[in-house]
Amino acid sequence: MTLAEIDAAAVALPRPEPLDVARTALFLDLDGTLAAIAPGPDEIGPDPRRARVLARLQTLLDGRLAVVSGRTLADLDRILEGAVTSLAGVHGLQRRRADGEVIESVPAEGLAAARRMLEATLPRAGGLIVEDKGLAIAVHYRQAPDDADAVLAAATEAARRHGLELQHGSMVIELRPPGADKGDAIAAFMAEAPFKGFTAVFVGDDLTDENGFRTVEALGGSAILVGPRRPTLASRSLAGVGEVMAWLEAAGPHSMSAAS
Ligand SMILES: [Mg+2]
Repeated sequence: MTLAEIDAAAVALPRPEPLDVARTALFLDLDGTLAAIAPGPDEIGPDPRRARVLARLQTLLDGRLAVVSGRTLADLDRILEGAVTSLAGVHGLQRRRADGEVIESVPAEGLAAARRMLEATLPRAGGLIVEDKGLAIAVHYRQAPDDADAVLAAATEAARRHGLELQHGSMVIELRPPGADKGDAIAAFMAEAPFKGFTAVFVGDDLTDENGFRTVEALGGSAILVGPRRPTLASRSLAGVGEVMAWLEAAGPHSMSAAS
């Protein structure tokens, strides 16, 4: 082992316990958690294994399952093929409750002007994807990593001019109005049936998931970071999407006896 590897091993977070389906209210991020990161947001589509796992969990957990993502509800329904009712989209600005009711914030006035400003000031060289989510605007620079500084500068100025906030993610930056974050969305679900009274568990990989980690830890639940250790509020970790899927597939009424 190199020194760096020894260091990483010394501070690695423990793996989560087997999922206790009788007590858990489960919240899952999508990109980087249930789906490997793709070059562009449209390259993620339906997946039979993921659909099977989510359908099984929905039953095992008696509906106490929600996907909490930066994507829009429409995009989540496209990718999950409508398998999950309870959803939070655009980092908490949209939410669909277990009874099907959709709650969302009103689009911010400055968003359209901010989009025009971004399109006028972003580098022209190609590779950047500007995604209009209606309630927020994302600039993806995964295919143009050298433009990161220019994207940050343009987004910072557009946000300042138009009263918006910046939401940093993995090779993406978003302009969004102040409002509910992923933690607020999880807290709202936890105040309602069928989630209320159960133990919140949230699995996520990105900076935006830290708000959710804070909420579940404050509620006495458990936060699970996907990917390498970094400064985080999570207390458990799984190495990647493959480990998440295996951990979810191992969940069940027999998971405790299987572990002993
Ligand atoms: Mg993610």
